[in-house]
Amino acid sequence: MGNIVIVGSGHAGYQLAAALRHAGNDDAVFLVGDEPHLPYQRPPLSKDYLKTAMKPEDLRFWSEEQFAEKAIKRIAGVAVTAIDRAAGAVSLSNGHRLGFDRLVLATGTRNRVLPVPGGDRAGIYSLRTVDDAERIRAALENATSAVVIGGGFIGLEIAATIAERGVPVTVVEAAGRVMGRVVGEAVSRHHERVLGALGVGFRFHAKVAGILGPESLGSTGRVEAVLLGDGERLEADIVIVGIGVLPNQELAVASDLAAGDGILVDAGLATADPRIFAIGDVARHPSLYASAPVRIESVQNATDQARLVAARLAGKPAGAYGAVPWFWSHQGSLKLQIAGLGHEADETVLRGRPEDGAFSAFRFRAGRLVAVESVDRPTDHMAARRLLAGGTMLTPGQAADESFDLKALAM
Ligand code: FAD
Repeated sequence: MGNIVIVGSGHAGYQLAAALRHAGNDDAVFLVGDEPHLPYQRPPLSKDYLKTAMKPEDLRFWSEEQFAEKAIKRIAGVAVTAIDRAAGAVSLSNGHRLGFDRLVLATGTRNRVLPVPGGDRAGIYSLRTVDDAERIRAALENATSAVVIGGGFIGLEIAATIAERGVPVTVVEAAGRVMGRVVGEAVSRHHERVLGALGVGFRFHAKVAGILGPESLGSTGRVEAVLLGDGERLEADIVIVGIGVLPNQELAVASDLAAGDGILVDAGLATADPRIFAIGDVARHPSLYASAPVRIESVQNATDQARLVAARLAGKPAGAYGAVPWFWSHQGSLKLQIAGLGHEADETVLRGRPEDGAFSAFRFRAGRLVAVESVDRPTDHMAARRLLAGGTMLTPGQAADESFDLKALAM
C-alpha cells in the first residue's frame, strides 16, 4: 500500500478521491485543500446560488461521514507549500510534511485581479468560491446599480441574474463581443441581443481606467462608479470583476516541472516526473480536438481527467486522455451547451435560426467538425458529442440542412 496525495479539494481533487475507491484502489489517500469547506460544486455559484436561498451544504459532493467511510483523509484549510521531489514529500502550511508515492496536482485556478486605480475599493467582488458567492448575494440585496467587468461565461451569468432582479447592469468588455475566446460570432450576438432585452447594457472595446469612490476619501471609499478609458462614467454601487483566471501552477514551477499557462502533462496526464500528475483546470494537456495542448476549465474535463488518473493509479488500462470536451452556461433564460473546441474553427454554419430562439452553430476546421455551440437545442448537443467522439464525417451542408437526420448519423 502506498500514499496518494491529492493537492486541491475542488472538483477534480474530489472526483479523483472518489474514483480511486470506485476503481478498487486501496492506497492511503490524502485530500489536501486550502479551502475550509467540504468539497463542493462551483457551477451553481454564478447561477441558482445568487438567486435563491441555497446554502453552502446544498453544494457538497459528500458528507464528512462519506469521506470517512471511504477512508479518504481530508486535510482542510491547509495549503501545500512545496514539493520535495527528492524526498517524495510535500510541505504543508500547518508545518507538517506528508510523504507520497504518487502526487496529483488539482490546484485549479484563481481569478485575475483588475490592476487599475481604485481596484481594491469596498463593493468590488469576484467569484470563485462559495464564500465569494455569499458576499455577492448579500451585496446584491441592496444594490441599485451594477457593473460587470468582463463578458465571459461567469460575468454574463451574474449580469443576467442582476438584470432579472430589476437592477440596472452594464457589462464592460475589452473585445468586440461577449464570450469571444470560446464561441463563434453567431452565439455571441444572440446572447447580446437576448441579454440586452433583459436589461443588460454592454460597452465593447472598452478599457477600465479606474474605479471611483467619494473624492474626499481618496482611493479608500466605497465604489460609486467605473471610469472607462474614453471618459464615460458608469454609476455602480457593486462591481463584479470576471476577467479570467490564472492557473495555480507555482508548486510545479518551483519543483522544476514544466508549466506555461498550466502545468504541462502528457497524454496520460503525467508530468515529466512519472510519480506526479496534474488534472482539471490547472493541467495543460494534449487533445485530440486541438492542434496544440490545451487547458480546459470545465466540470467535464475535471471529472474525466480524475477518472483517467484514478484508473492508472488503480493499475487499470487507461490509455490516453481523449474525452470529448463539453460545457454548459445558463444566462437568464438562455441555455448554452458546447461540445468540442471551437477556437481553431475556420467555417461556421447554423442549424435553426437565432430569431426563433433555438439554434446550433456547427464549427469546422479544414472541413472537419470541431465544435457545436447549441442554444436551447439539447438534441443537437447530444448528437454533437457522439459525432465528435466517433470522428464521424459531417459536411457543413448536412449540418445546416434541418431535414438531415443528425441523430441517425450519430448512432
Ligand atoms: P477547482 O474546483 O478550482 O479546485 C481547486 C482547489 O485547489 C481550490 O479549492 C483551491 O483553493 C485549491 N488549491 C489551490 N492551490 C492549493 C494548494 N497549494 N494547496 C491546497 N489547495 C490548493 N464549469 C462547467 O463545466 N459549467 C459551468 O456552468 C461552470 N460554471 C462555473 C461557475 C463558477 C462561478 C466557477 C468559479 C466555475 C464554473 N465552472 C463551470 C468551472 C468548474 O467549476 C471548474 O472547471 C472546476 O471546478 C475545476 O475543478 P478543479 O478541481 O480543477 O479546480
